Amino acid sequence: MIQKNTLYVVATPIGNLRDISLRALDVLMAVDVIAAEDTRNTRHLLAHYSITKKMMALHQHNERTAARKVVDLLAAGKSVAFVSDVGTPGISDPGAILVNLVRRKNYCVVPIPGANAALCALSAAGTAASHFLFYGFLPTRSEMRKRKLKELKPLPYTLVFYEAPHRILKCVADITEMLEANRQLTIARELTKLFETIHTCTLGDALTWLNADANQQKGEFVLLISGAETQKNIHVSDQAKHALKLLLEELPLKQAVKLTSGISGENRNQLYTLALSLKEARKQ
Ligand code: SAM
Repeated sequence: MIQKNTLYVVATPIGNLRDISLRALDVLMAVDVIAAEDTRNTRHLLAHYSITKKMMALHQHNERTAARKVVDLLAAGKSVAFVSDVGTPGISDPGAILVNLVRRKNYCVVPIPGANAALCALSAAGTAASHFLFYGFLPTRSEMRKRKLKELKPLPYTLVFYEAPHRILKCVADITEMLEANRQLTIARELTKLFETIHTCTLGDALTWLNADANQQKGEFVLLISGAETQKNIHVSDQAKHALKLLLEELPLKQAVKLTSGISGENRNQLYTLALSLKEARKQ
């Protein structure tokens, strides 16, 4: 049942129009007004479910003034739903300013959960990501993007980024330049749509894979990158560590890792990560 003087924050599909909850449809059908980030897009969704409703635009360029209009509607006893272009409002989307104002004015805000591209990607990546950091969009300028990546690099959490098709190559190029080549990358493209692709590789192989097929550079992207291996997570014997340290003084990293692995029988990936952090520590 719909309540008066209430704002409903409603998640909508990220592609497949059937990914919407029954409760979301009930709310969209029953509210007095729908505030939408992109009214044209939302009209398409509503038409699919035969819903006709009074709408108003609320997007990043008018969020403050539109939010005040929503408050006026709530004050007049109306119920309002807010939907963003795709997925969950407020997640790399407008909504926070609106919700903040409505709550400050002591009106009720009810979330109606549903699709979200980041969680959708995480659920299908098959990588253990019990801890993740949702970052959303990295800066658009390469220099700023690299600076941000440098900050995020040591975090031991799966990193979650959103990216648009026209920047995907440059963004992945910067990621591969800034983060370790042996970290896992999952590229989740066009989720819930016709050309859905979920591909996992190492960062070292990412650009080759993307460049091999221009179709893989089209559409909407979520990028998941495995967290930094901290020394705490590296299980290597003291003897192997000692050998690696000595060899690193004389040989290039790859060769030192290969020899240490051959001598000690320790996992090459773990030794590689250890070698990188030893090298990093030597620089500081
Ligand atoms: N609020 C949305 C959510 O809950 O996921 C995110 C909106 S944000 C403006 C749009 C970005 O989300 C896209 O550029 C893309 O990175 C990601 N995205 C949205 N739909 C997607 C899809 N179907 N597949 C992959 N990524 C998607």
